Amino acid sequence: MTAIAMCACTEQTSKRTTQPENDFNYVVDQFADLQILRYQVPGFESLSLQQKQLLYHLSRAGLMGRDILFDQNCRYNLAIRQTMEAIYTKYQGDRETDEFKALETYLKRIWFSNGIHHHYGEDKLMPGFTPDYFISCYRHVSASDLPLRPGQTTDQFLMEIAPVIFNPTILAKKTVQSGNVDLIRTSANNYYEEGLTQKEVEAFYDRMKDPADSTPVSYGLNSRLAKVNGEIVEKVWKVGGLYTQAIEPIVSELQKAVAYAENDTQKAVIEKLIEYYQTGDLKTFDEYSILWVGDTDSEVDFVNGFIETYGDPLGMKASWESTVNFINKEATKRTKLISDNAQWFEDHSPVDDRFKKKEVKGVTAKVITVATIGGDCYPATPIGINLPNSNWIRRDYGSKSVTIENITEAYDRASQGSGFNEEFVWSDVERELIRKYGFITDNLHTDLHECLGHGSGIILPGVDPDGLKSYSSTLEEARADLFGLYYIADPKLLELGLVPDQEAYKAEYYKFMMNGLMTQLVRIEQGKEVEEAHMRNRQLIAKWVFEKGTPEQVVELKQKDGKTFVVINDYERLRKLFGQLLAEVQRIKSEGDLVAGSQLVEAYAVKIDPALHAEVLERYARLNLSPYRGFVNPVMKEVTNKKGEVVDIVLDYTEGYTEQMLRYSKEYGFLPAYN
Ligand code: ZN
Repeated sequence: MTAIAMCACTEQTSKRTTQPENDFNYVVDQFADLQILRYQVPGFESLSLQQKQLLYHLSRAGLMGRDILFDQNCRYNLAIRQTMEAIYTKYQGDRETDEFKALETYLKRIWFSNGIHHHYGEDKLMPGFTPDYFISCYRHVSASDLPLRPGQTTDQFLMEIAPVIFNPTILAKKTVQSGNVDLIRTSANNYYEEGLTQKEVEAFYDRMKDPADSTPVSYGLNSRLAKVNGEIVEKVWKVGGLYTQAIEPIVSELQKAVAYAENDTQKAVIEKLIEYYQTGDLKTFDEYSILWVGDTDSEVDFVNGFIETYGDPLGMKASWESTVNFINKEATKRTKLISDNAQWFEDHSPVDDRFKKKEVKGVTAKVITVATIGGDCYPATPIGINLPNSNWIRRDYGSKSVTIENITEAYDRASQGSGFNEEFVWSDVERELIRKYGFITDNLHTDLHECLGHGSGIILPGVDPDGLKSYSSTLEEARADLFGLYYIADPKLLELGLVPDQEAYKAEYYKFMMNGLMTQLVRIEQGKEVEEAHMRNRQLIAKWVFEKGTPEQVVELKQKDGKTFVVINDYERLRKLFGQLLAEVQRIKSEGDLVAGSQLVEAYAVKIDPALHAEVLERYARLNLSPYRGFVNPVMKEVTNKKGEVVDIVLDYTEGYTEQMLRYSKEYGFLPAYN
């Protein structure tokens, strides 16, 4: 239920410089701190017509929940998106002025973030145009194109939304993850209605939980919490409940998909998901998850629903997301080798034996090719996923872990010749390591992180799986990353033929340390702290091993021409430090040691050296790169014959970013502005 055993790691820092293998145009758009890419779907053409039709309907279902995510992220998101889109499409004045361009950028950022807060930093996006300019544009739009509340005039509506757009203190931050504040009241997301306190929410869910229940549902996963007439109630997201206008079409599209299921198991999976959407029953969701994790024969696979809980500071409420994909059989040989040896990795890890899994069950790992991403996986998308999240389902039925290689491929290709490594990597030795091994070890680290890391270890009996509170996501990601870092250097990988030689891991170690100590800071504004769980995890690891290795100078920060660089002097010793920290983080999780966990996070993961931060930002700015990237989807089209029968499904790679976003708003804009 917390983000505990799951993960959607969005990080991609690979900056390789190799020659392009084809002339596919990966870069679609660039604005603010974002770059929009396009991904290819290799192998789609050779799928059967039935598989393509299955993908087609799952893809449509995967796009239909977009409005749900907007509304989950903040209660004003849909109203502001609709208003900005109306202005953008109706404005009759000069569209070439700086102010109009700024307005366009603001709208593009809202689309990217699925709302008015930064998708990663969580802070509210501040417009680059003035309130006066906004009002002058607003006057171009007729009332019928605006999301007015019943009886509201356009002026009243303007008075309501202008402060939400322009005042930085109103709904300032989407999700407040830590600090000595009420995390519910200070977060701007829409999982908890106004008037609720963190204490009330915690008490409400504590009352529901039965410590003796060894197979608990994921409490609170699919509902918004509200206070009605003084009583706390869940408004469940289901057919007939909250968001029914979007969930009904999703269900209808899933029903169409059933007809093209590859086998009875997959048919049962889709039908169970439909039942869950219809009932909102979390027990049904668990049944669905068990069926889904057991479906390992189908080539087509998908995620569709309320899955990840990163957006809720209490780690209970899940955002809506979807990925639709099929297996990459050739690359899956690699992950199969890893998962077949899962028990060996568990047995040999540096973790205390008490915290190890005696029997590693059902770790299935594959490499997939995505065909559509939606909801919280779009446009910023994970490169690896490990589901389901329910701890007891993972314990009893295992998990499915995937590496999304057509996405990592696109990142890699789009990064060619960026100048990043020339600026930040210490010397040609490290640059050569990264050039030679970077892509292989990046993917391997993702495989190990997802397939083994998140799946490893146990929680001791009687320990509350939610006991690490708001620190749980960071610590869980650290555990998975450390597992991957420890093993990527293991001779076992060479023995299995997964790395070309015993040097390869150094590429990953160097990149990890450079990123964790320095370069990931390009994503953070001067003066701010590290917030996001994956970033905190990386800084936690990098700073901890840096500090512990200081007496022996394992890793150093060196100056050259007035610039700071990471230098690794002793890779073998560094591996031992990763192992030590892995043992400690696993202990914290297994025992639910909140005190040690919070100290670790607060001491290493959050604070930033302002001078180093300024330097990194300044050096990065000169490269004119974007710290965040996301994707447009290919357009899936049915090809029909004269009788109207579908004879093929084809992919079109020509749709632009703005085009796609406006089309999605039109075709899948199912929800009213206020829900
Ligand atoms: Zn993860």
